[in-house]
Amino acid sequence: MEYDVFIKFCMFRNITILLCFGLTCLSASPDPELKKIEKALQTVPPVKSQKVPQILVYSKASGFAHKSIPTGVKALRALAQKTGAFNPTFSQSVEDFSVENLKEFDGLIFNNCTRVEKAFVTQKQRSALLNFIRKGNGFVGFHGASDAGMPKWQEYTNMIGGCFDGHPWNAGGTWPFRVEDPGHALCKSFSAKTFRFSDEIYQYKGYDRKNLRVLISLDANKSGKSGKSPTQDYPVSWVKSYGKGRVFYSNFGHNKATWWTPFLLEHFLAGIRWSVGELDGLYDSLPQPPRL
Ligand SMILES: [Zn+2]
Repeated sequence: MEYDVFIKFCMFRNITILLCFGLTCLSASPDPELKKIEKALQTVPPVKSQKVPQILVYSKASGFAHKSIPTGVKALRALAQKTGAFNPTFSQSVEDFSVENLKEFDGLIFNNCTRVEKAFVTQKQRSALLNFIRKGNGFVGFHGASDAGMPKWQEYTNMIGGCFDGHPWNAGGTWPFRVEDPGHALCKSFSAKTFRFSDEIYQYKGYDRKNLRVLISLDANKSGKSGKSPTQDYPVSWVKSYGKGRVFYSNFGHNKATWWTPFLLEHFLAGIRWSVGELDGLYDSLPQPPRL
């Protein structure tokens, strides 16, 4: 082989090898978000259920579309796979909420699906959803799931417990929280009665503490900001009943990092299990705690 042909051959071969190596790396490299989620789940133990609950997870935003929606899907899928606590079916379609189709499920998760009143437009669709919960099934809402209802679908707000009314506490800030009910089954993963965390925190309209049990709240007095509540009452995670059904809502979930935070994934898991009756836990109202 002549020298210049030999050099060209070597260059071609090296480029080919580099290309192959690059493609192999790309196909083998795991999703970095999933890696973080899996790491966070290392300490979450498997769960024994009598009968694995079937959960329909709805993730279509009809208002603001959070970038953390796909992260939530990955986290919920990984949480289910790691623990065996529930069997999720992921949906982007309101058509899945027919009376007939809902018979296949024990509970629902609304994953950051804002302004659902724009998706559930007919009375038939709305009744199918609300009656499913009233009959004794579970409902779990994360973050933007409360950015919905009022004024066009008041009953959805009544069901979930409050309607987004702005977020004086922005996603980039780190905010002080209180665990109001440390002994509750959904609060076992919080190691102290107070903690600080970075996420976008809402204030609510259509919220009345008497209608639900606040588990986690924002300590507005220590946050350096105040919102619209005359009593500075800013619930963050709560449980409530709706007919014979159980509702768990958590404001956490705007930031992607929420979905790979171990104590929150455990809080979410407990909430999902509680909503379908796999965990016991009171849901009657507690008074607002005094200022510390
Ligand atoms: Zn948000």
